[in-house]
Order: sequence, then structure tokens, then C-alpha cells
Amino acid sequence: MQRNHSLFRPPAEAYSLIIRIANGCPWNQCTFCGMYKGVQCSFQSLEEIEHSISMAWKEYPQARRVFLADGDVMALPFNKLNMMQPRLLSALRVIPIPGTELCDEEQSGRFNQLTEFQAVEELRTMVQGLELESTVFRANHSSNILPMEGRFPKDKGRLLAELDALLASGSLDPESPGPPPLSL
Ligand code: SF4
Repeated sequence: MQRNHSLFRPPAEAYSLIIRIANGCPWNQCTFCGMYKGVQCSFQSLEEIEHSISMAWKEYPQARRVFLADGDVMALPFNKLNMMQPRLLSALRVIPIPGTELCDEEQSGRFNQLTEFQAVEELRTMVQGLELESTVFRANHSSNILPMEGRFPKDKGRLLAELDALLASGSLDPESPGPPPLSL
């Protein structure tokens, strides 16, 4: 499978073995996403996937976690896995990327980003509503305003307290999304 486009992986997969079983994203329509625009989506055959995993396993037998790339490979027959309680849940913040439809909508006034304050309020609402039995929760992407991480259910109270302190600090911009991340 020939590739000439960038590989993207979540921050939490920095130490995972990355195995590319696809080119691009089968959906490729999220208006906030510019990762695989212009990339024709294709998947390896099942035999090729098995071969890729087998070769990667031989080369990196010490690997403890595997991330299958590119975008949204869970759209493959693995999709039933989405019904499981997640072992890892990451919350990122929407940042319009130049060249995407969402960025165009923002520039024409049809889409408004949350303010810094609203983004943290939204994250707090999300954390408050999560009832998870054993999940690592991360909001430590460069798009997140306050890097945070914990394990549900034991750290839920601490995460909420950190978010409450930030909301009460007066440091969050109530009028604008604030400065963009240095990198994405
Ligand atoms: S890679 Fe993910 S975020 Fe981007 S279009 Fe595909 S599903 Fe959406």
C-alpha cells in the first residue's frame, strides 16, 4: 500500500505500536477535521492486516498497546467494539483548521467557537455526566485548555474540583476562544 500523506495518532498513543491498515478515513466528512482531506480511502485486505500485525509483532515483541491507523478504522467490522465500556476516553477541543468547511463557516459567521470559559464549562458537564466503571480519562491534547488526566471512577471528584477551580479563577476568557494552540 503506497502512502505519501502524514500519519496522525492521538497523544495517548505516543508509546503505542502504530500499524497502518488503511489510507485516509472512510468518513472524511467531519467539518472540523483536515487530517485526511484529499486522501483516497482504502483498506488493507484481511490477509494483509493479519500479515502487517504479525510482522509488527515480530519486530516489536515488547509492544503492549497497538493503535490501528489511519482515521476511523473502527468503521471496519470492529464497530461493535464501540458498544463496550471504553478503557480509554479522550476529550479534545474543537479547533477549526484552515482549509476545512468548519473554518470557512467560522469565517463567514455561520459557526462560532465556544469561548474559553464555555469550553471548560462544557468539559465539566461531560465529566459530571460520565458513569464509567474502569476508564482512563484524558483531556491533555494541545487543544485542551487545562491538561488533565485521571481514572474513572476514583478520580472523578478530583477532575471536577480542578475544573471548578479553573472556572472560578477568573483567568478564562468569557468573550473569545482565547489564543489558539501552539501546535495540533
Ligand atoms: S479522521 Fe476522524 S475526525 Fe477526521 S474526518 Fe475521519 S472520523 Fe472525522
